[in-house]
Amino acid sequence: MGDAFEEQNVQIVVTNGEISAIEEISHVPDVWIFPGFFNAHTHLGDTIALDIDAPGTLSELVAPPDGLKHRLLRESSPDTCVEAMQASIQTMTKSGVLGFADFREGGISGVKYLEKANAECPLDSVIFGRDGGEAVSDGLGISSTRHYGKELSGIIDTARANGKKIAFHAGEKDSKDVETALSFDPDMLVHCTHATSAQIRTIADAGIPVVICPRSNWRLGVTSSRHNPPIHEMLAAGVELFLGTDNVMFVQPDIAAEMAFCHYVYGIDAIDLLRMATAGSRLAEKDYTINKGNDARFIRLNTARSNAKYSKCMVNTIISRLNPSDLEGSLLTYNLQHL
Ligand SMILES: [Zn+2]
Repeated sequence: MGDAFEEQNVQIVVTNGEISAIEEISHVPDVWIFPGFFNAHTHLGDTIALDIDAPGTLSELVAPPDGLKHRLLRESSPDTCVEAMQASIQTMTKSGVLGFADFREGGISGVKYLEKANAECPLDSVIFGRDGGEAVSDGLGISSTRHYGKELSGIIDTARANGKKIAFHAGEKDSKDVETALSFDPDMLVHCTHATSAQIRTIADAGIPVVICPRSNWRLGVTSSRHNPPIHEMLAAGVELFLGTDNVMFVQPDIAAEMAFCHYVYGIDAIDLLRMATAGSRLAEKDYTINKGNDARFIRLNTARSNAKYSKCMVNTIISRLNPSDLEGSLLTYNLQHL
């Protein structure tokens, strides 16, 4: 419950989609209620290349403009692209994700396809477009400053003048593109896998949130160390961290799995992980914590369906062994889950 994710016996009253009361009760059913997750960094478009068996470096696979994923995206029909993204959105929904922030390739039409994919039973969404797509979306998502020349300043100035959020991939394979990203006063950074201590200090002082995607970093070979991304150092410096899953083509957009990975590999505490898994909701101007007055963005887990009923610590179980088949859904996604 609340910002501290305290375990309590309560019933929650929802009125018109908003938490109108939280009342302590003595007897509760075998159901846990906890905040839905926000996946703060996805590339839903590359669902079309799911688990493609392609060796290669990061740049050969995902770097614009001619990485494998960009070639496959160009070759796919709009309908295929929309259906593929819809399938990933439904997959996220079933694993407790109620919102996402996506870096969408493909210009204006790319943004429109994602809006169409998310139209039927929409999750909370923030779309960072590029190649002109930023004009019709929530923000501008820059792949890395190293992919641009002098034209980048103009692109960012125009997006900012139009009230768009500015986000960068930065520090993914080394620290060299972090300074240039910071020079543009970004609203959000993604990765910071190799951010230096000085850069972390700057990021913390500027209050810039960072989305970390550790499973993607390992999968793409940009880290093989529990020190990168420097999660403990960023937390200690006061950087606000969100969890993301990055490219759907390599990594399932499952935030529960990302929490478990961070717990095992990096030894991150359960409460920190739950905060990182939910706080990205503020990108969509929502607050997923269970507090009176917030929109009802919680999910339910039926402990009678699994060994979870023997758990001695609810948050430890949630961050380390959440099984989507035990979830009973949310008010936001009820219709989608009962199609
Ligand atoms: Zn990314």
